[in-house]
Amino acid sequence: MVIDGKRVAASVIDDVKAASAALEKDAGVKTGLAVVIVGNDPASHAYVGAKSRTAQECGFNSVQHTLPEDTTQEELAGLVAVLNADEGLHGILVQLPLPKHLNPDPIVQSIRPEKDVDGLHVVNAGKLATGDLQGGLVSCTPAGAMFLLKRWHGNDLSGLNAVVIGRSNLFGKPMAQLLLAFNATVTIAHSRTKDLPGVCRNADILVAAVGQPEMVKADWVKPGATVIDVGINRIAAPEKGEGMTRLVGDLAFGECAKVAGVITPVPGGVGPMTIAMLMANTVIAAHRKAGRPAPS
Ligand code: NDP
Repeated sequence: MVIDGKRVAASVIDDVKAASAALEKDAGVKTGLAVVIVGNDPASHAYVGAKSRTAQECGFNSVQHTLPEDTTQEELAGLVAVLNADEGLHGILVQLPLPKHLNPDPIVQSIRPEKDVDGLHVVNAGKLATGDLQGGLVSCTPAGAMFLLKRWHGNDLSGLNAVVIGRSNLFGKPMAQLLLAFNATVTIAHSRTKDLPGVCRNADILVAAVGQPEMVKADWVKPGATVIDVGINRIAAPEKGEGMTRLVGDLAFGECAKVAGVITPVPGGVGPMTIAMLMANTVIAAHRKAGRPAPS
């Protein structure tokens, strides 16, 4: 079965809309999200545009700051300080990657943890790592992948072997922590792992977040496994015409789909969930600020 991430994301966004409308009606608080983009990277502009549009669709006060390529570290830090102090903003997202002359770490760590709707601040990463899933904000892509997994497996992954390929702070590590929190037995694989196909064949749940087009082959997949593809890779598509490209994931989708029990496509799988979970994190942050119970 192929998981339709767009459909699941649309239902999350409907829930977010309802929660933000209720917060405005009951507490007079309009949920606010600021998205900051620096430079001219076309892919980043496309992501930020989608985030700002979805925030508007959710009824948020959606603020976008578009800064020029030659913005200095101090200027960007200054903007984050202003957004941190703005009581009407509940979430701040600085789109990564930043232009090469800027250091993203101090910027991300300067966002107030309660406004860090990307879930990348060490306070939020630490809460997740210590099993506190309610007190912090969880990184959006792993939260979205976990949301899809829970729809198929429920809240208890006891007895299931999960393998995550990739150990980034953005995805691999928080994904592994989430799987662990829901009782899976978790292996994190990476570029130094020996016999990666053999490790993957042991997975009841296989999550690939590598950035290598169609790397995972059908004979890496345990028959009937749940397979989640996080990779987004652009490859040449001469069949569509000269110079044309298409998106593929880290799985050789066609062949893996024949072996897997459940699988996510690229595009239309985890990608739409990332934006939906960003909206969910923002409305949760707004509820917390208003002293209201956060929607589940
Ligand atoms: P990183 O480049 O930070 O991490 C990639 C990881 O894959 C590293 O841990 C690396 O290992 C591992 N790796 C690389 N090559 C191999 C290999 N041949 N065999 C085994 N492991 C390997 O990437 P991200 O985690 O940020 O992103 C991963 C993918 O997910 C990308 O395609 C990205 O575009 C996509 N993505 C999608 C999102 C979405 O919204 N759907 C959001 C975020 C990311 P090592 O640590 O040893 O170098």
